[in-house]
Formats: sequence, C-alpha cells, structure tokens
Amino acid sequence: MGRHFDIECLDPGMVAVLGVPSDENSSYMRGPAAGPTIIRNALRCDATNLSTECGLDLSTHSGWTDLGDLVFENQASAVADIERHFRELLLRDVRALALGGDHAVTYPIVRAHADTYKDLTLVHLDAHPDLYDIFNGNRFSNACPFARIMEQGLAARLVQVGIRTMTPHQQDQANRFGVEVIRAADVGADLSLELAGPVYLSLDIDVLDPAFAPGVSHPEPGGLSTRDVISIIGNMGGQIVGADIVELNPRRDPQGITAMVAAKLLKEILGKMLRAGPNT
Ligand code: MN
Ligand code: MN
Repeated sequence: MGRHFDIECLDPGMVAVLGVPSDENSSYMRGPAAGPTIIRNALRCDATNLSTECGLDLSTHSGWTDLGDLVFENQASAVADIERHFRELLLRDVRALALGGDHAVTYPIVRAHADTYKDLTLVHLDAHPDLYDIFNGNRFSNACPFARIMEQGLAARLVQVGIRTMTPHQQDQANRFGVEVIRAADVGADLSLELAGPVYLSLDIDVLDPAFAPGVSHPEPGGLSTRDVISIIGNMGGQIVGADIVELNPRRDPQGITAMVAAKLLKEILGKMLRAGPNT
C-alpha cells in the first residue's frame, strides 16, 4: 500500500483528515470504498460553507489538513498497512480523522492509537454493536471490529450509543467485555456522555435514522436524528484524540443526502477537535 502524502509537512497537534477507501470486509454489500471522495465533494460543495456551528471557519483554519486517501495495492496486508500509516501520524503527534470505508477499518486504526494512549475511551455511535466474534467466516468483518479491539485490551472503556440490533451473542460479548451500551431508545436530546481523558470517536453513519441518512449498507429504522448526533458530539467530555466516519455507501445515496450529513458531521468533529487542540 502506497502513501501519497508528505508526513514531514505536518506540525504536531494538527488534525489530519485521511481517507481509508476499503470495503473488502463489508458483510452485505460493497460501496463504502467510494465514501472518502463523496464526503470531500460534499464538504467542498458550494451549497454550503466550511463554518462549524461553534464558529470556527475551517476554510482559513491552519490547524487541519486533508491528506487524501491511502492507496491499497495489496488487500492481504491492508489491516497491517492501515495500522502502520496511522501510527506514523501519531508518532508525529498528529491527530487523525479517518474517512471510511467500512467499519472494519476501525480495528487497525484503534490498534495504532492504543500504542500512544493506554487509557483510551472509545465512543462508538452505531445502530449495530459490531461485536461478533466472527461473521460469515471473517473475523475482520465490518460486524466484528469491536470484538477484536476489546479482546486485545486496546481500550479502557467502550461506550456504544444508538444501538438497536442487539443479538443474544452480541449481548454476551458486551457483557464479557464490560461494554457500556446506550440503546437508541434511551438517547434523548440531553444525552451527555461522562468521559475523561483521551477519547477515540467512531461514527458509523447508520446510527442515524434512514430518514436522515439513507445512504448506508445496513439501514436500520428507529435511529438518531442529525441534531441528536451533533448534540452528542458537542456535549462529549474528554479530549478527542482520533476519530473516524465510516459506512457511507454512495450506491445507496443517489440524492447525496447522506453525503451532506457525513460532511456536516465531519465539520462538527473537526471543530470539536480543533477547539480543544493547541492550534486554536
Ligand atoms: Mn458499524
Ligand atoms: Mn452500523
């Protein structure tokens, strides 16, 4: 896998957006590999601007940069390659905001973060727990990343928000790993996560109700609104040291509605990271 960005130009403390266009491990349908390009196009679309709701103008803010996408040449080594590239960013004290790709990419990215942050809290927004030990014979499926993460002790806490597809097996897994599960039915506008220390935010777009974000591979009704997710991100404690936005499937998003939602959430996560960072 090649790297087409120059890591030497990154200053410590910056936030780097990096696309991870991989959907090899999608259990149901392909498509999320096109996510990074589609989200970037929506972010730069003249229909909107680059100001966040907290008042940062990302068009002039020097604290972040877009590195483009990783290029996959060998799928067999993709997991190790993803981990290696994110580790390089972390060694330069650069905070990464990854654009997926399917949710399988989160496992190698969190592996890289766990080296730097020994007491990492994972905040995982998703319709699905993604805690299967194995799914359709694949332990690296997009249905499994949080089982891999927790069995290897890569996070001190895993807080899942918006869950609405819990199975008996995954409930057993949640109990085994001490996962804190906040189901979609229990998410209100006033949800404020009590967090401290370094936080990694993993945002599966299907946490949103399909009415807000239809362009996903696994639409699950009964989900969160765009406003709910913006509020949860805005009210989160702790410091976001890394994040990902995954599972946008452009093949299911002909009107580009979901792309605009993903770009909006990208802006708000960037704003949250930059406000707390050294470049503000
Ligand atoms: Mn997921
Ligand atoms: Mn999901």
